[in-house]
Amino acid sequence: MNKLCHILLLSCCLGNFSASGLGETENLECVKSAGFLAPIDSPDYRKYAPDREVNILHLALDVTPDFKQRTIEGKATLKFKPIAKPARELKLDAVDLTVHSVTATEKIQGYEVTDEKLIITFAEPIPPGREASVTITYHAEPAQGLYFRTPEMGYREGDTHLFTQGEEIEARHWYPCFDSPNGRLTSEVTCRLPEGMTAVSNGRLVSEEKDPATGLIVIHWAQEKTHANYLVSLCAGYFKKLEDKHNDVPLAFYTPPSEFKEAPNSFRDTKDIMAFFEEEIGVPFPWAKYYQVCVNDFVAGGMENTSCTTLTDSTLFTDATENIRSSEGLVAHEMAHQWFGDLVTCKDWSHIWLNESFATYYQTLYRAHKNGRDAMLYELYSRARQITGMTNDTRAIVRRTYDTPRDMFDYLAYPKGGWVLHMLRAQLGEELFRRCIKTYLERHEYGNVVTDDLRAVVEELSGNSYDQFFDQWLYHAHHPELEITHNWDEKTKLAKVSIRQVQKISDSVVLFNFPLTIRFKGKFGVSDRSIRVKDKEEDFYFPLESAPEIVRPDPDYTLLAKITFKVPNPMLYAQLADKADSVGRLLAIDQLAEKKDKESVAKLKEALNQDAFYGVRIEASRALRPIHTDEAGEALLASTKQPDARVRRAVVGDIAGFYRDTAYASALQTVQNEKNPDIVAAALRSIGAYAKPEGRETLLKFLDSDSFRNELADAAIGGTKLQDDPAYITPLRESLSKRESAFTTRGFAQGLQTLAYLDRNEEKKSSVREFLVARVNDKKERVQLAALTALGVLDDPAALAVLETFAGASKDSPERTAAEQSVAKLRAGRKPADDLKSLRQEVLDLQKANRDLRKDLDALKKKLNATEPTSPGKGKKKAILSRPKA
Ligand SMILES: [Zn+2]
Repeated sequence: MNKLCHILLLSCCLGNFSASGLGETENLECVKSAGFLAPIDSPDYRKYAPDREVNILHLALDVTPDFKQRTIEGKATLKFKPIAKPARELKLDAVDLTVHSVTATEKIQGYEVTDEKLIITFAEPIPPGREASVTITYHAEPAQGLYFRTPEMGYREGDTHLFTQGEEIEARHWYPCFDSPNGRLTSEVTCRLPEGMTAVSNGRLVSEEKDPATGLIVIHWAQEKTHANYLVSLCAGYFKKLEDKHNDVPLAFYTPPSEFKEAPNSFRDTKDIMAFFEEEIGVPFPWAKYYQVCVNDFVAGGMENTSCTTLTDSTLFTDATENIRSSEGLVAHEMAHQWFGDLVTCKDWSHIWLNESFATYYQTLYRAHKNGRDAMLYELYSRARQITGMTNDTRAIVRRTYDTPRDMFDYLAYPKGGWVLHMLRAQLGEELFRRCIKTYLERHEYGNVVTDDLRAVVEELSGNSYDQFFDQWLYHAHHPELEITHNWDEKTKLAKVSIRQVQKISDSVVLFNFPLTIRFKGKFGVSDRSIRVKDKEEDFYFPLESAPEIVRPDPDYTLLAKITFKVPNPMLYAQLADKADSVGRLLAIDQLAEKKDKESVAKLKEALNQDAFYGVRIEASRALRPIHTDEAGEALLASTKQPDARVRRAVVGDIAGFYRDTAYASALQTVQNEKNPDIVAAALRSIGAYAKPEGRETLLKFLDSDSFRNELADAAIGGTKLQDDPAYITPLRESLSKRESAFTTRGFAQGLQTLAYLDRNEEKKSSVREFLVARVNDKKERVQLAALTALGVLDDPAALAVLETFAGASKDSPERTAAEQSVAKLRAGRKPADDLKSLRQEVLDLQKANRDLRKDLDALKKKLNATEPTSPGKGKKKAILSRPKA
């Protein structure tokens, strides 16, 4: 899954990690923070796969959705065999299902429904190996697992649909099952829908016909090869589709009808990706078809359900964005899962990298295939920066300590695991790596895998021990942090390279042992020297004909490490000019970004305008921003005419880092002349920093503008927040109220928050409060949560009563948490952290009040003392002392 984080991005979903510059659903939703671990002395501290008392062989679901009530009537038939011992009971995961009946091929003594289980007790134990089946009819109003998108919830009438999400453990909310990846089953899904609707599920379409009794269309899909329970999927409702074929594999791409116009853009790489993967992986696409379905407000970026991936509709994009947006990364990621995750499935969540890292890395390999090696290296470079920039990076990729399965879907499972595969491929060589992966897949197809299964194949085919590689990169945390220095001795003609490993060694972080190439370039040509780094501190000597002009550790970019290697300017400039080495140029830019001198700025400007690779140009733009001198600002302002939209957007965004009249004028000009909405949006946001009449008019104009997915109005709202001017309250409220249907859910939620923010210091808050209160029961969860949070930001005690009704709920829920936080904010009379200005004023007012009080108190004391009858002790003394001053 590619989770778009519930804030930032993740469950096999592609979320977070693919964004920026990597072509994915940027920051979709999920970057989930790590959960709270169970205490070390608790039995829950380490997690393992559950026992399988029976083997669930087959699941047949028959589902009739009620789109008005947002409920389903279901019938689930599960075929199973006890494995080793006679089974008296069948325990199934089931949450909040109303069970109508349970029947079976064996005599049933009774059944029990608990909060989390359905337990069926048979009259006699079923002996091992005997096949039996149970059929459960039930009703569900699922809070998770199955999601409705209907007009009653605020979605477009003609787009009504539902989708399911199994991973990690949500399936139990819409049907009874053994909800763990360590079991495989065939499955079939039958869905009964009003005419005009359609249903997509796993496997092959068996039939589609009208039921004369009900008038409903009955659509029946069958997944005839085994897969994991979390991959069972159903998308049903109004959709339109595009079709294609790769050899014998039918391909299709569905969107809700109102979004169909953009479908070809996102679908366009699908066929090429499949052809590439079949070639690269060496195993044919394993399933009956490959369909992708875009849905509204998906819970992640994408989900690789077997043969029918679900995608967020925010992956859809228009041609106007040129090359800034693409669905390539997301589509490639989810399709790679069809082999890695679906054909072979991690046995339990501790090995989730076997799903996610492969999907992430094969997405990178497709990038190289389609866009060239530099594009792939740039993706790896961006990810390495993300990984090596993490704080508290002391958890291993494979670990048993996590709170919930979702905690495993993080940067370790996605980009870091992808990097580990990149290193493995470099060490094995491409051809041997391909053979290892093919063997691994063929050996474990339609089965479960653990990390050692991969190691065993790699060792068997390479003849080498990979214990250390797996131990340091997968079972231990972190990466080498290297401090490298270079010295040339003209007398002995020796280049000395000193390497220190400075990462903090601990139980979870080892001293690394890895091969490293050092490349020297000079009058003698190119000379690569291979070494093995294994000590904390080592010096290496290399005889060369003459002094090297460039020294490049890891020139092929096959080591995940944080390397500090400062080279003198002539060497740096030579590296920046080296056309054959894009990573060398990126690293040179990184080093130049720390300098402020005019020559460095001139070099960056030159790279920004002349480098052949767009990634280098983008990074040159980014590097100029923090330099923040007039020269750096001018270099950016002189570089706005970039033919590549990705670079143009970077320049516009980086100019926003300078507070100058010229920067403001440039942003205004971009808004007026630029055609690409993504770039206009970047300029609009930056205008917010300037309190100027023309900028204000521009923001107001765009507040009511129409654009694809309302991107420009969203950007204008971002600008008004920066302005922090109450004059925007009324126009913003009107835009939100009149144009609600034009907003995305996320955009509307952000609009509510901004409205509360702008209104927070006003004396009369009733109209904004009422506007927000009207949305605290919104059926879109994100809007509801935004309204509850916004009431806390608004800081109006009159909202307390409303918030209390949510905060007092008996059941834990995101609404309750949001309301509790707002209540706490209001109660404490504390302002949100971003409200520094008024906080400062409040402190000043308090200080003044305090001073006045003290003055009054002193005066009072003096009066008192003056009138007090003299008596022995302290009081007397004070009274006497104070008297002369009175
Ligand atoms: Zn994924």
